[in-house]
Order: sequence, then C-alpha cells, then structure tokens
Amino acid sequence: MKIPVYFSVAYSVEGGFDTVRKASEVARSLVEDPIAGVQLVEPRPVDLELLRLVHDSSYIDQVLAGERGQFTEHGSGFVESVLASTGGVVAAVEAAWAEGGFAGSLSSGLHHARYDHDSGYCTFNGLVVGAVRALQLGASRVVIVDFDAHCGGGTASLIERLSDQGIMGIEQVDVSVSSFDNYPSRPGVTCRVVGGANYLVAIDEALTSVIDPESVDLVIYNAGMDAHESAGGAAGVTTAVIRERESRVFEWATHHGCPVAWVLAGGYSSSRFPIDEVARLHRITAEEAARAQEKSTTTPASATD
Ligand SMILES: [Zn+2]
Repeated sequence: MKIPVYFSVAYSVEGGFDTVRKASEVARSLVEDPIAGVQLVEPRPVDLELLRLVHDSSYIDQVLAGERGQFTEHGSGFVESVLASTGGVVAAVEAAWAEGGFAGSLSSGLHHARYDHDSGYCTFNGLVVGAVRALQLGASRVVIVDFDAHCGGGTASLIERLSDQGIMGIEQVDVSVSSFDNYPSRPGVTCRVVGGANYLVAIDEALTSVIDPESVDLVIYNAGMDAHESAGGAAGVTTAVIRERESRVFEWATHHGCPVAWVLAGGYSSSRFPIDEVARLHRITAEEAARAQEKSTTTPASATD
C-alpha cells in the first residue's frame, strides 16, 4: 500500500509567498526523484459545510469573495489555492483513517488561523478542519502534533471554542523554537518553547507526554521545517536533527498503531537558503514516513516491542 501524498497544481500561487508557492517545488521533487512507497494524488477542494463547522460563516464568505484572508493580492488564484490545500489536508485525514496508515498533503497546516480572522500567513486552520473531519468519520481521539517553529495558538483557540460547544476529542502537543503565537498549556493542549540544543529531547518528551497513545485514533502532524537553523529556526536544528525528528514521529506512531496525516507547515527560503532547499527539507517527512511504513511491514511484531 503506497502512502498517498495529496497535491494539486491549484495549491500553488505563482509568485506567491513560500506558504502558497513551495508545494509545487516539493511535488516536482517527488516526480523527478520518486520515493518508493509514496504516490502523488489529486484531492478535491474542501467541502464548505465542513469549513463552516470550524470557521465563522461570514469570514468564509468574505474569503471566498477575495476580500479577507492572507494573500488576497493574488485574487481568485488564492481562493482556489486555499480551498484546494485545505481539501488536501481533509483527503489525507480520510486516507489515513480509512487505511489505518500514513498519508500526507503538500498543504500547510495553517495553525495561526483563528475562528473569524487570518493570522501569520494562515487563512483557514486545516489542522482543525481535518480533526473535525476525523471526528465525523468516527474518531473519538485526534492528536494534533505541531512541530512547526512557531506555536499553534490558532489551533489552541479553535480547540477551546469547539469544546465549549461540546465537540470534544481534539488534543494538541506543540514544540516550538519561537514564542510567536504562544498560549498557556492546559490539559490535553500543551505548548513548549525550547532552544535548538534541547530540541530532540523536547520532541521525545512531547511524544511521551501523549497519554495512552494506543487509544489515539488519528495523529495530524504539522511538520514545519522552519525550526531548521537555515529556514528561520534555531541554531543546532540541522538537517540531520530534522530527519531524526521525522523518524521519531513516525516510529512512535507505528509503535502505538496510530494513523498519521501529515502536512507541511513553515519553512522559509532566503537568499542564503533557496526554495529548492526548503523543498528538500519537506521531502524528508515523506521519506521518513515511507521508511517507517516499510520497516513496520518487514519487521516481525515481536522485534519492535
Ligand atoms: Zn512557523
């Protein structure tokens, strides 16, 4: 069973900021140099009724009219992009849920987006939209693992809003190297800001902090590359550290039998770190997902305990 990685040319906005541009670079890399066990799949745009369970209806309508949201200067191309890329997160959730394995989308998770406004390059919070879709499908426990460089304050606020409405079952574990969009931890929703030197220890502690992982129905992994020291993050978070992080996430998920839907999140180019380098970092997530899946299907269960 190949890992589906959702991508549509509509995700990318030509000339746009990295958030709406880099997906096509990652997709090109996967076409030119395929990863065994990974296949690109076209998603449908997000269902608007699902979106309205998470975001304010009038805000959604204003985004659809091109009046609100990040990157509105790109006009209808942006509207198409945000609907396609949010649809990709939902498709990855549906595939991971149906198969009980791994799936990805070359969308960004957009963890700063709030109920009725955009924030920090994020218009709709695909992580929470995906989590709500998983609840619709029958999940009772969804854990959003957010290892983007920045804190996922938008996600935390939406989880709280949903739980106030009686929609429970979404948790978040968040390790960041920047205090941007920080929020106070509470049971089931935790945020920790660390330096580069402590990064992998904090990743291990975050994964270990998930209570009773065997009962987690789905993990949604916001695999930000902006923690990398050259992509906007902290000194000491090298490419090798990022690869080790991805390996530990997928090994942890495999060990506990958790399906994972992963998305791209941050990772920014600069004159010293071009966008193909950013794409190469994001590719590591797909490579480590494939490696962990391959290992789990070839290793006898007794040897993994
Ligand atoms: Zn970020």
